[in-house]
Formats: sequence, C-alpha cells, structure tokens
Amino acid sequence: MAYVVGPACVADYSCLEVCPADCIRPRPDDPEFTTTEQLYIDPRSCVNCEACVPACPVDAIHHELRLPPEHAEYASINVAWFEESR
Ligand code: SF4
Ligand code: SF4
Repeated sequence: MAYVVGPACVADYSCLEVCPADCIRPRPDDPEFTTTEQLYIDPRSCVNCEACVPACPVDAIHHELRLPPEHAEYASINVAWFEESR
C-alpha cells in the first residue's frame, strides 16, 4: 500500500522536497523532468509517512485506499510509470 499522485498534480515539486524516502519522480536530474505532466510515487519505496499530503497545494495525493473513485486508475498509473521508465 502506498500514496498515489492523481490528476490534479501541477508538477510544482513541493512533495518531492519533503519525501523522506526519495520515492517521487521524476526528479530534476531525470530525463523526464522537462516533459512530465505530473509526478508519480513508487509504491515499492513509499513508507506511508503522509508528509507529501499537506505539502501538495492542489490536494493531488491520496492513499491508494482513499483515492476518489473517479481517480481509482491512478494507483496503477503511478506503478506503470516506474515499470516503463526502467
Ligand atoms: S507518503 Fe511519505 S514516503 Fe510516501 S510518497 Fe509521501 S512523503 Fe514519500
Ligand atoms: S506537491 Fe502536489 S502538485 Fe506539486 S508535484 Fe507533488 S503532487 Fe504534484
């Protein structure tokens, strides 16, 4: 179980700065940094600390068990980003 970035994300990187597990991508040194539409959380590294939630200015981050129903597919979208980027 992990936290998930949903479609409201505006890629301002506030969450990335507070994450103690360094599991939010892309980072500024990643090749996708200049083209990504949103950020993604690696569920294998997320420690469920919730630090990213209050840091997000647009309420785009939710625990995967509490995703709004209309955004349920974003749990797999976050997972897929890490599978495709390897
Ligand atoms: S819940 Fe914690 S570990 Fe998981 S992405 Fe957010 S800040 Fe990082
Ligand atoms: S803090 Fe919210 S809007 Fe900003 S990059 Fe993270 S998820 Fe996206």
